[in-house]
Order: sequence, then structure tokens, then C-alpha cells
Amino acid sequence: MSTARLPVPADPITTAPVKEDLNSFRIAMRQFDYAAEKCGLEAGLCEVLRRPRRALSLSLPVKMDDGSIRVFEGFRVQHNSARGPCKGGIRYHPNVTFDEVRALATWMTWKCAIVNIPFGGAKGGIVCDPHKLSHNELERLTRRYAYEISPLIGPDKDIPAPDVYTDAQVMAWIMDTYSMTHGSSAPGVVTGKPLFLGGSLGRNEATARGCLFTVRAACKELGINLSGATVAIQGFGNAGSIAAQLLAKDGAKVIAVSDSRAGVLDRAGLNVEELLIFKAKTGSVLGFPSAEVISSEALIELQCDILIPAALENQITMQNAERVKARIVAEAANGPTTPDADLLLHNRGIMVIPDVLANAGGVTVSYFEWVQDLQELFWDEDDVNRRLERVMTKAFADVHATATKYSVELRTGAYILAIDRVANAMRTRGIWP
Ligand code: NAD
Repeated sequence: MSTARLPVPADPITTAPVKEDLNSFRIAMRQFDYAAEKCGLEAGLCEVLRRPRRALSLSLPVKMDDGSIRVFEGFRVQHNSARGPCKGGIRYHPNVTFDEVRALATWMTWKCAIVNIPFGGAKGGIVCDPHKLSHNELERLTRRYAYEISPLIGPDKDIPAPDVYTDAQVMAWIMDTYSMTHGSSAPGVVTGKPLFLGGSLGRNEATARGCLFTVRAACKELGINLSGATVAIQGFGNAGSIAAQLLAKDGAKVIAVSDSRAGVLDRAGLNVEELLIFKAKTGSVLGFPSAEVISSEALIELQCDILIPAALENQITMQNAERVKARIVAEAANGPTTPDADLLLHNRGIMVIPDVLANAGGVTVSYFEWVQDLQELFWDEDDVNRRLERVMTKAFADVHATATKYSVELRTGAYILAIDRVANAMRTRGIWP
């Protein structure tokens, strides 16, 4: 086995464990290196795929409501476009870093290849706390960002989408800014738009629905009955809250959820519909009647069948992986498990459905939205969901078969499958000029 995956080594002098590296980009490289070595990827393509194709770093001046000027930092990174235009969300969060965006862009390349849609990988981000901006400030910041990245984006170049703390309204502003500066309306420049502006039915639920399809497939593989299975979900936004709803509809018992403030636990099962109404009214799950309060960290260690991290990176690390008790970890979030924790979970017999597979439903329906926009012909929701189910079920089977063939866990199987598809496109296209 490659040293890249060995558990955290001890410092030879102090015998204390060397601190785990939580840098998302180095984690993404480590995952890639391990899979590339396993599948014998040639050195030249390894070098190409270890680096993003291009990256834009931005200073974004914004006139605030009080008349002052603030400068925000932003990024757009395109990792690879061998299989098609780049695709990836835009994150607004105070902790966004260039390395995080580079990692997320890289993961997008593998994700699109795993579900076999004709896109490469990209990602964007702005260092900001959108909850502390007014609606007008958020609009001005978004439009300035859209203007600055508009030389890179376009329906056949790079198509942004929502991610943490961005939504359909933000996508509408980006679409409008791009359209105004290009002289014609271009709905295909972003996905995750409002329905009446060329959005797709089923897009809002797609990440969670895709995750559900992979959880169903994993349960089948492990002989777990999803009806009655216990579920804990960290993060109660687009991915987490809709996953809770869909899993409850499948008969699963959602015993705990958390958001950025705290979590709630009811071992008899939370009433997800009432919790959604409560969160919509109060802004948090905290204070939901008749539930115990738990921390987001404690949620990770709960006794349950299925754990769904649906918030941010590095939530399952060497600090807590030993205490994870779920049988399946379905990564709705990007990068929630560190490589060392991943190995530990695998050795403990816990199945991790990796992010590049578990949350690929979002980009899959984004692809459907883009196709509908280009054709100016829209599908009904059943059609979208049926196509999504086919894509996700096939992707799970392909990943599982690759992992079995190479005797590796699902994440490495997913990477090998993706690397093979991307490398094949690169070899056939050749290196320009
Ligand atoms: P969102 O903004 O809708 O929700 C984020 C949620 O995480 C919120 O409920 C927030 O309160 C919670 N949160 C933040 N910090 C937390 C913490 N420390 N502990 C617990 N909860 C915390 O974002 P989203 O779109 O649901 O994205 C969540 C994850 O899913 C991200 O990793 C994102 O990259 C990934 N993802 C999203 C999509 C999509 O289509 N939205 C697609 C693929 C992957």
C-alpha cells in the first residue's frame, strides 16, 4: 500500500502523532496520487491532472449601504476541461480559501467523470459572510464578481451553480450580469436558476435525491433495510434538509440533524416536516420542541445506521473517526472525511460513499438544466428524477465494480474510474499545440 494512505505517523522525537494535514487541496492531491498509482497513470498525465488548468484571483470592491467601500477576495478555478466545459458551484463563506476552491474544482472534474456527463471541473468562491450583508450589498458583490469572471465563464466554457450560502437568486444575478454584458440573454451560463428563468424542475432537490439513490444502493449491498434505519445528518441546508425529507419518506428514522448553531436529537425520530417549518420560522433547528440539544461534533459519533455529513470539509478526522458508529457514511458534503480518517473507517468495516459519488446528483441535474436551456425545451419533474435515478444507480454500480476490481474502497474506486475517463479524453485529444 502507498505511504500516501498510511495512518498519521508518530513524530520520532516526541512520539506524539504528527498533526493531520487538513489543507483541502493537499488532501485532494493525496487522494488523486493514491488512485493514480493504483491504476498506473503515466507520469506526464499525472503532472497535468495534479494542477488546475487556470485560476483567477480577484479583489472585489463593493459600495456598502452606508457609503463606505469594502474590498472582498474572490476566486474562480478551472481544473480540467478535457471532457467538456468546466462546471462547478460558487461558495460564499468567511473561511473560503484559494486552496479550498482549488480542491473543490479538482473534485468537480472527478465527479462529472464518475456520472459520465460531458463536463470538466471548476469552482468559485468569495470570502464573505452573506448573513452580514444586506440584499443590495449581496447583489452588488455578486454582480461585480460575475463581471470579473465573465471572460472565463459562458454556456460552452464554464457554467457556475449554487454551493454553500448561494442560491437561485445569486444565480439569477450572475445570469443577468453576464447577459447584459454579452448583449443577449444567456440562461445556459449558470444552473440552479429560478424555474421561471430557465431553471430545471428537480434541481433544488437533486443533490439530496442523488444521495438517496446511492444510499439505497449501499443499503442493498450491505443488506440494510432503509425503512426503519436510523439516520444522523450534519448540516440542514439544501443538501442536508432535503436528504432528511427524502429519507424520512423512504421510511428511515432521522434521529438527529444539526446546523451551524447546534444540533437536535430525538432517538424516537424527528418529525422532519415540522422541523423544516421550525427552521424556516426561526432560522435554526436549535430550540425545536421535545428534542435534546447536541453539538454538531457529537452528532458525528451517534449510534445510527447512516451518517450524512452535509455541511463542510474535515468533519470526520483522526480526532473522531474511531468513534463513528454508523454503518454507512454518505458524503453529501464535499471533503468531509480526511484521508487518514477514511482509511480508519474502511478498516473498521464502515462503508463510505465518497462525495464525488454521493453528492453528484446536483451536478447531474445541473447538466440536465443546461441541456434544457440550450434546447429551450423543458422536461417534467418525473422525467428529470427518472433520468437522475438511472445515472446515479449506474454510477454507484460502476464505482463499486471498479473498487472490487482493484481491491480498494469506494473512494479510490471512484477516482480510478474518473481518472481513466479523463485521461482517456486527454490522450485522445492530445496536448495542444
Ligand atoms: P447550504 O448553504 O444550503 O447549507 C449549509 C448548511 O450547513 C446550513 O444548514 C448551515 O447551517 C450548515 N453548517 C455550516 N457550518 C456548519 C457546522 N459547523 N456544523 C453543522 N452545520 C453547519 O449549502 P448546501 O448547498 O447544502 O451545501 C452543503 C454541502 O454540500 C457543501 O459541502 C457543498 O459543497 C455540498 N454540495 C452541495 C450541492 C448543492 O447542489 N447544493 C451539490 C454538491 C455538493
